[in-house]
Amino acid sequence: MGFFDKLKKINIFASFGSELTDDFYDELEESLILADTGMDTTLELVEELRRRVREEHIKTVEEARECMCRVIADAMTVGEPTLNLSTKPAVVLFIGVNGVGKTTTIGKIGHQLKSERKKVLLCAADTFRAAAAEQLTIWAERSGVEIIKQHEGADPAAVVFDAASAAKARKADVVLIDTAGRLHNKQNLMNELNKISRVIDRELPDCARETLLVLDATTGQNGLIQAKQFKEAAGITGIVLTKLDGTAKGGIAIAIAKELGVPVKYAGVGEGIDDLKPFDAAEFAQALI
Ligand code: GDP
Repeated sequence: MGFFDKLKKINIFASFGSELTDDFYDELEESLILADTGMDTTLELVEELRRRVREEHIKTVEEARECMCRVIADAMTVGEPTLNLSTKPAVVLFIGVNGVGKTTTIGKIGHQLKSERKKVLLCAADTFRAAAAEQLTIWAERSGVEIIKQHEGADPAAVVFDAASAAKARKADVVLIDTAGRLHNKQNLMNELNKISRVIDRELPDCARETLLVLDATTGQNGLIQAKQFKEAAGITGIVLTKLDGTAKGGIAIAIAKELGVPVKYAGVGEGIDDLKPFDAAEFAQALI
């Protein structure tokens, strides 16, 4: 079983004959748009395919499929694809609206890092909802990693301070921070993240740091609009795209990477602890088309 088996496939390459006609390109365009790739990204991808087909003297639909996989993978390669965890500790902040799978993602990544024998500390800095810390605690127990939390309504920056101190004292490798990080309004989010950032600057200067935006792939083009707003308000270093197993149309992953210029670093394909892994654009492209 491949990781992206539940992804909705764009079937055009299987259904088309062997000739690379204009009809073929038209239908390819249409199916990419239907798959949530977005107009601009679709036109650029198909234009690039045409260019490579000419340049590489490609004649068959099967060769064009392989070429399209490379075109998609290249379009999605927009920066460092892996998490920078080069310092001890490294800090990863997670932001995103409610329900996208933020807590689940942190639980899954914590579990994976732990199985790589890393010392992981979860930080429940989403103090806005009591349920958020409770849910994160369940994940911490499930994977046997430690968690730092405070009472509901506590200052998120204070929880981050506690986590930074604990990380130093316990020699943690990675601190995964769940933030309320929601976009009520841009200024709000910026203030919250700046405050957290200043604590990290002070307590863990020079640590490797990432800010991952968690996005629900089933929200399609709305997710893309949301991502653009988040990008303006926060310095995002990567995207986690969840729910690529359900009704999601996979083209949204390409549109997000390409239009935001931010790499997709993880993909989620289910609710289970192993249903998330570092994103591999080539594997994704092969599964999509
Ligand atoms: P949060 O509010 O952003 O912290 O979201 P949660 O982590 O609570 O997740 C919301 C719901 O989405 C839960 O029911 C999760 O099990 C589910 N979920 C998270 N990731 C995935 C995924 O990759 N695929 C599917 N099908 N469900 C997911």
